[in-house]
Amino acid sequence: MREDSPSVVVIGSINMDLVARAVRLPAPGETLVARGTLLTAAGGKGANQAVAAARLGARTSLIARVGDDEFGRILRGKLEHEGVDCRGVGATANCSSGVAMIVVDDAARNTIVVVPGANGLVTRSDIDAQLGMLSSASVVAVQMEIPFETIEYAVAKARSMGTKVLLNPAPAQPLSDDLLACVDFLVPNETEASILTGMVVDSVQSAERAAEVLCGRGAACVIITLGARGVVAGTSGTIRHYKARDVRAVDTTGAGDTFIGGLCVGLIEGQDLPHAISLGQDAAAIKVTRMGAQASTPYREELDVWGPSAPS
Ligand code: ADP
Repeated sequence: MREDSPSVVVIGSINMDLVARAVRLPAPGETLVARGTLLTAAGGKGANQAVAAARLGARTSLIARVGDDEFGRILRGKLEHEGVDCRGVGATANCSSGVAMIVVDDAARNTIVVVPGANGLVTRSDIDAQLGMLSSASVVAVQMEIPFETIEYAVAKARSMGTKVLLNPAPAQPLSDDLLACVDFLVPNETEASILTGMVVDSVQSAERAAEVLCGRGAACVIITLGARGVVAGTSGTIRHYKARDVRAVDTTGAGDTFIGGLCVGLIEGQDLPHAISLGQDAAAIKVTRMGAQASTPYREELDVWGPSAPS
């Protein structure tokens, strides 16, 4: 890929997911023997979105932190293998990498304990060390699995340099109007949109109302993802529904991350909003037909199964 082609910078988390399957979830104090072997998978919203953008065709860089440990070396190696520029991925001494410890039972319920580790130590100076990367990018995508102070700083910096800001407020917490006013694309799912607005968001109509409220609070464009129902998106006064592809979903983990990766690719390629959303939805629809998260993200050429991109 050419050094001067438009690029995406992702600022966010990197985790190692450790997954054990058990007959049921353990009760407090109980020890259960897992079924089968331990599954390990690279995750974290930042890494997932970076891999999605890279597989879908964008020059992609990641600003993040891992620990100075074996997981950190493995996770960084995987990202480099995916073609993600990891010059902005630091290794923090005397700190573990981010880990998600997941137990899944036979009824597909889960419990998850997240150890933020080095993700909790991404600071302003990590952003300042990559200002050149940030200013030359077309879009910067940020989620909320790193310290909030760093997010606010990164968003304001990107804004001041004229780089478009995409904020995926996950996990959600209330956001100030000042922060929203720096956001070009706000991309929550239904749960996150509910937390941001205090409204119940559980349908196309309620999502349209919530999107209008979030635009009114300063976000330039709001895109609320609604799982199998697609997305509701637009700027104030232009919000509308875009249907999802009709597929047989087997695992929706990471659907939102794949959607965001695809959306970023469409945006940096200069596509209009409906086509960029379509690219994201086409990619996410393929992802949900496969088990796993990051590793199941599709490559750009796989989107050909849908034929020429046509927003619904
Ligand atoms: P998150 O993973 O953040 O909760 P969603 O579940 O809303 O995000 O999914 C993000 C996008 O992935 C949706 O807007 C849609 O395009 C696609 N998607 C998710 N689930 C399905 C599904 N069952 N069928 C088709 N597309 C889906």
